[in-house]
Amino acid sequence: MVSLKSEREIALMRESAKVLKEVFIRLKDFVKAGLSTKEIDLKAEKIIRSLKGQPAFLGYYDFPASVCTSINEQVVHGIPSSKRILKEGDILSLDIGVRYKDYCSDAARTWPIGQVSKEVLQLIDVTRASFFEGMKALQLKSRIGDVSSAIQKYVENRGYTVVRDFVGHGIGRSLHEDPQVPNYGEPGRGLVIQEGLVVAIEPMVNRGKHRVKILEDGWTVVTLDGSISAHHEETVAVTKNGPEILTQFEN
Ligand code: MG
Repeated sequence: MVSLKSEREIALMRESAKVLKEVFIRLKDFVKAGLSTKEIDLKAEKIIRSLKGQPAFLGYYDFPASVCTSINEQVVHGIPSSKRILKEGDILSLDIGVRYKDYCSDAARTWPIGQVSKEVLQLIDVTRASFFEGMKALQLKSRIGDVSSAIQKYVENRGYTVVRDFVGHGIGRSLHEDPQVPNYGEPGRGLVIQEGLVVAIEPMVNRGKHRVKILEDGWTVVTLDGSISAHHEETVAVTKNGPEILTQFEN
């Protein structure tokens, strides 16, 4: 069931997203080669709590951390670990959820660690740009399938693939709500976009094939062919003035 949000609820989600943006902005200066992903997790939790938010991922289906840290061929849901040290040339997909005044916000970025190749930067750029292609298709009276198809076309036209086993989602008091927002699909299909819809749109883009698998830890999703993968996610509200990216900030 899709729960459409009132203007008051969207205002609260905007506040939640503001906290989340601040977390990303502060982490951007912190994240570097030599840090363990656990150190990033602990730093993120500290920032979230200092801003009076709660880490929405911690304990969600028993997830053991506040953020997901997915490196290189890891697509999503990487578990932070004191043993995994970031090194020059890695790419880090950092996915963070905040709960604030009982409303969730959810966003992800992929950051290069130090110098990475031009090809890797291009994967990150295409992933981010595919989100914005999806946004162009997100209009009052358009459909979820228009967004899905716009993302898929943009990515595949550039020689990459979109992950199919994991998808974007509605968001509100719960982290994951209806509807699902796949990164592939047919235009003209699915839910009609209407005022009050709030969704997390999150293209996951692989350099190789689209197939993924889950590691034995029960969480970490990796590409089946070992190719690198990038992720970009924003929480987006459809307001009476049109779509608004609640979590958008510089980079
Ligand atoms: Mg999400």
